[in-house]
Amino acid sequence: MTVPNLLLHDGTSIPQLGFGVFQVPPPETAATVTQAFEVGYRHIDTAQMYGNEAGVGEAIRASGLDRDELYITTKLNNSFHRSEDARREVDASLERLGLEQVDLFLIHWPLPTRYDGDFVQTWRALIEAQEAGKTRSIGVSNFQPAHLDRIIDETGVVPVVNQVEVHPYLTNEEVRAANAKHGVLTEAWSPIAQGAVLDDPTIGEIASAVGRTPAQVTLRWHVQRGDIVFPKSMSVERMRENFALFDFALSPEQVEAISGLDRGEDGRTGPNPDTFDWIP
Ligand code: NDP
Repeated sequence: MTVPNLLLHDGTSIPQLGFGVFQVPPPETAATVTQAFEVGYRHIDTAQMYGNEAGVGEAIRASGLDRDELYITTKLNNSFHRSEDARREVDASLERLGLEQVDLFLIHWPLPTRYDGDFVQTWRALIEAQEAGKTRSIGVSNFQPAHLDRIIDETGVVPVVNQVEVHPYLTNEEVRAANAKHGVLTEAWSPIAQGAVLDDPTIGEIASAVGRTPAQVTLRWHVQRGDIVFPKSMSVERMRENFALFDFALSPEQVEAISGLDRGEDGRTGPNPDTFDWIP
């Protein structure tokens, strides 16, 4: 199975399908990521907040894979938005991962009600990290359109991606449109809504029609919309299932039917980025 690479506006490219490690327990991370590599995943999405960067690093070293075959993303934790903290903690991530450079560093949450609303200083710290070669690309996560406009207006530097909650119950079109307007690719987190969409009757009917599972149909819907996904699973069977997305296609009508399941704000499973203010 060949995973397509999507071109980012800074000239680099990213595998459209990866493996997410949110809620993968740190002691099990190295073994879990090793299994994901064996299945064929080459793009790993971790974060300082997940506490498992060291396990990702261990799996990378054990894999024998060339560094340039891998795409590694991590995210700056909410406690480190001040520029001096951000600078130091970029280095700490590289140390834990055992890498000289990651492929993508993200601001995890904008926290507009914290740090006097100043996430621009945080963005400037990531710009410096990129200039210093510590990360190939920089992006953001959970940024609403106004947050995106602000960092772009104030620095002139456009993130390559915005990683936000997207799945059939929260299609998040406004944020996707704002991303597209700036040439920013959307990364869809919780792409199967942590399992919540898998019993949906519409998705079930489409799955029967195409002879695939509800998870595969949902992930394929994301792929056909052009978003980047990295489903998480602790089971090697489900890792394989989620990886097998590129040997079938949904019709435009099937894509449309799944998009029609959107419940707007009621479909959100995670925090609202405008009000989320949690600092570990
Ligand atoms: P997902 O939508 O990927 O769902 C994961 C859950 O679904 C797990 O409970 C898993 O269980 C189950 N599952 C996975 N595959 C299948 C399948 N084929 N059939 C049935 N159940 C399945 O949720 P996540 O929240 O983990 O999101 C994916 C990634 O997105 C994260 O790992 C992280 O990298 C990123 N993320 C980013 C956030 C951000 O703020 N930037 C927030 C949340 C996520 P099991 O493990 O038992 O298979």
